[in-house]
Amino acid sequence: MKTPLSDLPPLTEPLRAEALLAWLKTSDSEALEHLWARADELRRQGVGDEVHLRGLVEISNRCTRQCAYCGLRAANRSLSRYSMSDEEILECAHRIRDHGWGTVVLQSGEDPTFTSERVEALMRRIKVETGLAITLSLGERTGEELRAWKQAGADRYLLRFETSDRALFQRIHPPLPGRDSDRLGLLKVLRDIGYEVGSGVMVGIPGQGFESLARDLELFAELELDMIGLGPFIPHPDTPLGMREPPRYPDQVPATVDMTFRVLALARVQRCEANLPATTALATLDREQGRILGLQRGANVVMPNVTPRRHREFYSIYPGKAGLHETAEQTCLQIDAQLASIGRYVAAGPGHSPAFRRRIREQEGIP
Ligand code: SF4
Repeated sequence: MKTPLSDLPPLTEPLRAEALLAWLKTSDSEALEHLWARADELRRQGVGDEVHLRGLVEISNRCTRQCAYCGLRAANRSLSRYSMSDEEILECAHRIRDHGWGTVVLQSGEDPTFTSERVEALMRRIKVETGLAITLSLGERTGEELRAWKQAGADRYLLRFETSDRALFQRIHPPLPGRDSDRLGLLKVLRDIGYEVGSGVMVGIPGQGFESLARDLELFAELELDMIGLGPFIPHPDTPLGMREPPRYPDQVPATVDMTFRVLALARVQRCEANLPATTALATLDREQGRILGLQRGANVVMPNVTPRRHREFYSIYPGKAGLHETAEQTCLQIDAQLASIGRYVAAGPGHSPAFRRRIREQEGIP
């Protein structure tokens, strides 16, 4: 659909689903150039020219869930499993602090060996020993656990809702027996507890239509997200969604780098003051340009991988991940050069999003 720029709704935040749909569907090149430029302008206004580096530690690839797209799903017997010790995790956190970055991101599948008490103790140690901001991405956990971890020092929590299409979500993300999987509800719990809250979606999941993707983008604004992570669907051969040719759905969103850039740029329109990473999945589909174009089309965060290299290849949510064999130092050098070429620079400090800082000020009655 080649809707020309002159017929498209203005990019004034936040957009409703109908307007978002028009932007998702246009193939007009002038309109797309306008979208990239507008996202970059809103990024500069909302979060500035700084880029925040977050050290990512993939602490365990064990998972009890069976998500239909994910290589870490419990039924994937071809994957060697690992779970890092507390000492190994601490060592990574110290390296991140030594790099001068302000945040450690701990990510894993839903691994029951990371009990509430264990994570709580880990939060306290990381805070006391490094002073880093801590982002957790440990899946669906109880309100009690999330509260205890916040009190122990966790700052942020990432939980992608993946799609607002309830039927599609249940197909790709079946709940554990006897449990409901209500990620939107959990995002509200996280916000009430006081976390800086991140979520996001996958672009181009088989069965995802444009209308539901437009609704996802509308939800970013309604949920007032502080961080938004987006990546294209990349099929993993050892999963149900990667094993066979997907059925042809009418109105299927393509899992392309171009569509992911559009969603990223529109996410910036929706949440001008949120932190948006240029994700590894984006860099995986476009190794040369994925990260830098992401930073020029709305993103302001990069997450260098500091997971020990002996574990890294086994954190295989999708295959062929970018940066698998790079050291954090190499990634840093690359990022420095890329940022210098576009007039951006690495930020110091924890890098809380302006959206979150504004909310805290409002809650505390500070003008
Ligand atoms: S997406 Fe997360 S919860 Fe689902 S199988 Fe993968 S690691 Fe587990």
